[in-house]
Amino acid sequence: MIRITNLVKRFGGAAVLDGIDMDIARGEIIVVIGPSGTGKSTLLRCLNFLERPDAGHLVLNDLDMDVATASARSILAVRRRTAFVFQNYALFANKTALENIAEGLLVVHRWPRHKAHARARDILERIGLADKGDAYPASLSGGQQQRVGIGRAMAARADVILFDEPTSSLDPEWVEEVLELMKQLAAERQTMLVVTHEMNFARDVADRVIFMESGRIVEQGPPSQLFSAPQDPRTRAFLRKML
Ligand code: ADP
Ligand code: MG
Repeated sequence: MIRITNLVKRFGGAAVLDGIDMDIARGEIIVVIGPSGTGKSTLLRCLNFLERPDAGHLVLNDLDMDVATASARSILAVRRRTAFVFQNYALFANKTALENIAEGLLVVHRWPRHKAHARARDILERIGLADKGDAYPASLSGGQQQRVGIGRAMAARADVILFDEPTSSLDPEWVEEVLELMKQLAAERQTMLVVTHEMNFARDVADRVIFMESGRIVEQGPPSQLFSAPQDPRTRAFLRKML
């Protein structure tokens, strides 16, 4: 469904992504791990054009583009088919849970209001917050806010959902409910690319784990293989610290 070839992103002179190649199949659950500062967030942000890559090629279903020169129209098309879940939720503080979920449908997808709100109510049900549609983010727990963040990503029926450390900002008591929702999506075979330090989630849910370091993919494989028999010394060193 997705093929990324030779993705490069520089900040100043340094290549933060140094030639990333990645294929993602429909329904695949991929977890990306690696040390801090290694380019994991930048990879996700480039896939959604939150950052403009310096080079690379992207195929996403019928879309096919050179990412460095992609037109505004191509970028919008990619944004419509990819959804992003942020570490800090990034909800609109002045909108209710329902409005946060409906916002992308209204603005990006130009749905009529009644239809967007109907879908948002549906989603609220699925994320276990049917009674919180009128609540503002400040009145919700961290776990509830992130479930709204995930609900917003679910609303658009994106081809792929990109999760950037979705539980890293949460108090420990809220982590499990967010991981449970992600597991529910995984069980429905929602294609997802998840950056996380939750190794148990990776082990239980991922079809494939990718270990990145210094802007490159060092090693990848099914969790059973990568966690029990990592081949590269850098992977071994990282996992020793994490597991
Ligand atoms: P990770 O998510 O793996 O921790 P990031 O993708 O956030 O890593 O960052 C990779 C590197 O790129 C880091 O050295 C970071 O400081 C740098 N970086 C990220 N975003 C920017 C930016 N907008 N401007 C300059 N440097 C950045
Ligand atoms: Mg990051």
